[in-house]
Amino acid sequence: MKERLYFDTIILGGGPAGFSAGIYASRGAVSTAIIDTSMFGGQPSNYLELENYPGFLKIGGYDLAEKFEQHADMFKVKKFPMQEIENVDLVAKTISTKEFDFEGKTIIIATGASPMKLGVEGEKEFVGRGVSYCAVCDGSFYKDKVVAVVGGGNSAIEEAMYLTKFAKKVYVIHRRNELRADKIIQERAFKNEKIKFVFDTVVEKIVGEALVNSVITKNVKTSEIGILNVDGVFPYIGIKPNTEMFCTQLKQDEKGFIVTDTTMQTSLEGVYAVGDVRNTPLRQVITATADGAVAAVYAVKYIEEKSHSREKI
Ligand code: NAP
Repeated sequence: MKERLYFDTIILGGGPAGFSAGIYASRGAVSTAIIDTSMFGGQPSNYLELENYPGFLKIGGYDLAEKFEQHADMFKVKKFPMQEIENVDLVAKTISTKEFDFEGKTIIIATGASPMKLGVEGEKEFVGRGVSYCAVCDGSFYKDKVVAVVGGGNSAIEEAMYLTKFAKKVYVIHRRNELRADKIIQERAFKNEKIKFVFDTVVEKIVGEALVNSVITKNVKTSEIGILNVDGVFPYIGIKPNTEMFCTQLKQDEKGFIVTDTTMQTSLEGVYAVGDVRNTPLRQVITATADGAVAAVYAVKYIEEKSHSREKI
């Protein structure tokens, strides 16, 4: 028989948005739990460094994530990492994991987003053997090698620059002839002599034997097929929301991001969504933490209002 645990607020996801929600909810004197399917920290744990989180001129991603967790500990937020989720019922506000049955009065979804896949031949086959979605985790394996980053957004360009610390050459393969990344990030990358831009080009196939040895490319304007000899491929072509566990239960936008109002409430009363998983116009650590604060304050209000009206929630 599994133990049943009751909390006023249950937060699903222990990244910046989740921890911020935890800190604000707990300070609002409601019992608060954070559940995660892996270790805590979220996406920043994989960032080498942040230079745009106010108050910290430069801080390691892992260090910032650790500070968020310590801050939540200070307010006695209960933490449940490494939970294998079996069922999420957002109407009943219950979450069943292999170990526990959780029941909340409110739920805050902070499950973040995951890298999108290229969907080309060889991508799945070579994961861990030359295909990686985390330059910080795997970059050091490519000392003096040649790698390709695919994409033209902030992630692709920042990670390409990071990879130049190890690799002797980094191709950035982008499907247009203009980058999407912020101008300041672009300028730094254009000055980096190790980066070679391959514009108007898509990857058709990732090729190798035991390990990746090349990518087959196609110029989208001329249809010319090319080959680039590379030891590693890092696709950074955007993110998709982590909503598989409850995707049919909430209103989502056309890309699957959860739709919220300005209080972060979703289409279900008492259920909030924060950070990268929601349809936010800006995906940054600061906007994720701000979302968490807003959601927690309104979750606390919701609990208080319902308890005054003696309505069962
Ligand atoms: P993104 O901004 O959506 O960029 C995705 C890039 O991949 C775009 O250049 C896009 O090309 C390209 N792309 C998309 N699908 C493709 C496909 N099937 N094949 C080839 N290329 C494809 O995603 P992101 O860079 O992962 O960033 C996600 C969010 O996090 C953004 O809001 C970003 O600003 C934020 N972020 C911010 C920072 C920072 O501020 N330091 C760092 C990292 C991420 P098109 O340009 O042609 O659409």
